[in-house]
Amino acid sequence: MDLVLPRECGGCGAASVAWCARCADALAQPPRAVRPAVTVGVPCFALGSYAGPHRAAVVAAKERGRRDLAAPLGRALAGAIASLRDSGDLDPPELNPLVLVPAPSRRRAARRRGGDPVVRLCLAAASAFRASAASVSEVVSVARVLTVDGGVRDSVGLSAAQRAENLAGRIGVRGARVPPGPVVLVDDVLTTGTTAAESVAALRRAGVAVDAVVVIGAVR
Ligand SMILES: [Zn+2]
Repeated sequence: MDLVLPRECGGCGAASVAWCARCADALAQPPRAVRPAVTVGVPCFALGSYAGPHRAAVVAAKERGRRDLAAPLGRALAGAIASLRDSGDLDPPELNPLVLVPAPSRRRAARRRGGDPVVRLCLAAASAFRASAASVSEVVSVARVLTVDGGVRDSVGLSAAQRAENLAGRIGVRGARVPPGPVVLVDDVLTTGTTAAESVAALRRAGVAVDAVVVIGAVR
């Protein structure tokens, strides 16, 4: 039963609920602007520091098979994007529907983890928007267009310089068209900013302008 319905909060370990109200509140705070070490070229925002429930939920979704956490994390991401629209950091939905682009992950790593948690996070956020959409322009799409070269090593344990070298020029954009509209690059964690910077640059080369990067947790 525990595999089907986790009985422990994915953010704090509290018993009997899969995601508790306190952790939901912690992730519902307005996102804050972050400045990673690497220049990304577009504004970056995090739902919080990569600590506490933010970190626990990301790790549980990524490493412990807690697919159920995509829904609450997706709702939190949708809330953060709504808040960025309210503050004027993102254009309001009147003109074009928002596009979420998941940051790429190595295919093998994603397979080992039972699917790509960042893609799942984006799909859950899009479905949270769909549930509350008042007009068709509020519908959010997910464009899975970023790919990462098979030669890239897992970044765990690499220094900032090693991460940059590991990823340099290795993120690409595959065929699928990115719809017009504000584009938000989404990742679970922002560490040095290398992945975000390479992703934004790859999209720019493909003619897609990214408006902002939004992550669940920022390391700095
Ligand atoms: Zn909790």
